[in-house]
Amino acid sequence: MQDKQTVQAMLAQIGEFKNEPLTNFVQPDNAAAFEAALAKVRGEFGQKHPLVIGGKELWLDDTFDSINPAHPDQVVGVFSKAGKAHAEQAIEAAAAAFETWSRTPATARAAIILKAAALMRARKHECSAWMVYEEGKNWLEADADTAEAIDFLEYYARQILKLELVEVYQTPGERDTLDYLPLGVGAVIPPWNFPAAITVGMSSGAIVAGNTIVLKPASDAPKIAWEYFRILREAGLPDGVCNYLTGPGALAGETLVDHPQTRFIAFTGSREVGVRIHERAAKLQPGQHWLKRTILEMGGKDAVVVDETADLDAAATGILVSAFGFQGQKCSAGSRAIIVADVYDALLEKIVAQARRMLVVGDPEKRENYTGPVISQKQQRTVLNYIEIGKGEGRLVYGGKALERDGYFIEPAIFVDVPPDARIAQEEIFGPVLAIIKADDWKHAIAIANGTEYGLTGAYYSAIPERIAFARREFHVGNLYINRKCTGALVGIHPFGGFNMSGTDSKAGGPDYLLLFTQAKSIGEKLG
Ligand code: NDP
Repeated sequence: MQDKQTVQAMLAQIGEFKNEPLTNFVQPDNAAAFEAALAKVRGEFGQKHPLVIGGKELWLDDTFDSINPAHPDQVVGVFSKAGKAHAEQAIEAAAAAFETWSRTPATARAAIILKAAALMRARKHECSAWMVYEEGKNWLEADADTAEAIDFLEYYARQILKLELVEVYQTPGERDTLDYLPLGVGAVIPPWNFPAAITVGMSSGAIVAGNTIVLKPASDAPKIAWEYFRILREAGLPDGVCNYLTGPGALAGETLVDHPQTRFIAFTGSREVGVRIHERAAKLQPGQHWLKRTILEMGGKDAVVVDETADLDAAATGILVSAFGFQGQKCSAGSRAIIVADVYDALLEKIVAQARRMLVVGDPEKRENYTGPVISQKQQRTVLNYIEIGKGEGRLVYGGKALERDGYFIEPAIFVDVPPDARIAQEEIFGPVLAIIKADDWKHAIAIANGTEYGLTGAYYSAIPERIAFARREFHVGNLYINRKCTGALVGIHPFGGFNMSGTDSKAGGPDYLLLFTQAKSIGEKLG
């Protein structure tokens, strides 16, 4: 541990954490700057990228393309496809770097992460522009993703310093301390849907706590992860502390999970893969000296609940934004709206009327388009299949067709009169499909909301304090919002992560998140 004065001095010098402001694109200067960033990154399409292991670039002949889902013939970048041997090499490089990085003072680690935050802030629009093209995010969604990534860097740099200052009680005649040590080598495996925020959050949390990692980006989102990796290098992160390994999860990812030198796995993604990682990580490998720790953030089937006392206009907006922001491809997406019978018809009318005005579908490169494509052809097929299933379970009142054009576009679909146990009300679709369910009363509505295997986010619209107090206690989700949308958690303000099959109950962007990447050593030293 460092002496506390040095740590306190750094904390005082860097000041309190503040969330990165979002960009107001109504201002012409901001819009022009973003257009320029889009043009710049378009000029860099199609470049080839290596793996980076222990600081060495490995350019493989075996590659895969990352494409623009709005124009699948546009290749955003070409990436090296790592196999088992590369994944093993990357773990070994991380293990070698751990020897020095784990002994690097927290202030020095935090300084590099803060430098990375500054570099990302300076390239904010460029980072966001990559996500417009690589993931089909609209301008606002892409900007929010980059802002959240910067927030994670700023927040965790401060949190590691605060952890250095933890004190225990002293027994007479001893000096007693509790030191938070890094764990070792981690596999960091993010999803494609928040490819800046989640990639940066999980990896910077692990790194700033003194661990070394292999970062395996999602195969649909390697470019933005590459931009971040470049930033880490420029910020002065030593070779081998973060190793960049692109390739299929089922091979490269699984090798990282199974490796005996892997100490922890930080994963965000689907329930199916999360459960598989949990099971595999539990199996002791020959030569393994620890139980692997898994930090798993998985899916959701989140609900917005509205009672008869709610402001219905606000609720209609909240329902639509929660369900259809980034085409419903958020773990926090409010894919169910549960409305009490008294206001059911009135609210449906408002939702559909507003959907017509708001959900403009088109190329997200243009600022006026709210709804871009879904991420891939596979995802388009999955979503369209669920829409067919939904036609047998509820009544389709809006959208639901694939657009007859280039790209993986689907008109957002709204189903009404959906039974709570219908498949489209229980399974995570991860696309623009909203199931609206009628409840007898507010308590029934909250019971329906709790009736899935997930427990990630939820929103409750009501004007009655006693009911809100009940929801605070009984609405069983990791992130509950009252009278607002159920998406858009802010780092440091709404620590994020869910219950039950939504994951291992961790809270990204919260004061206890870094503990997941540490082990505490208690030392009692007899004095004199
Ligand atoms: P996936 O589970 O398909 O993939 C996530 C990551 O795991 C990718 O990097 C993938 O690599 C990798 N992977 C795939 N198979 C394996 C394997 N066998 N072993 C190790 N790694 C593997 O999820 P998506 O990327 O499709 O993301 C969407 C999901 O993420 C949704 O379910 C969503 O709810 C969830 N999510 C949860 C959040 C939360 O905080 N709870 C936040 C955001 C998303 P590759 O791409 O190469 O297959």
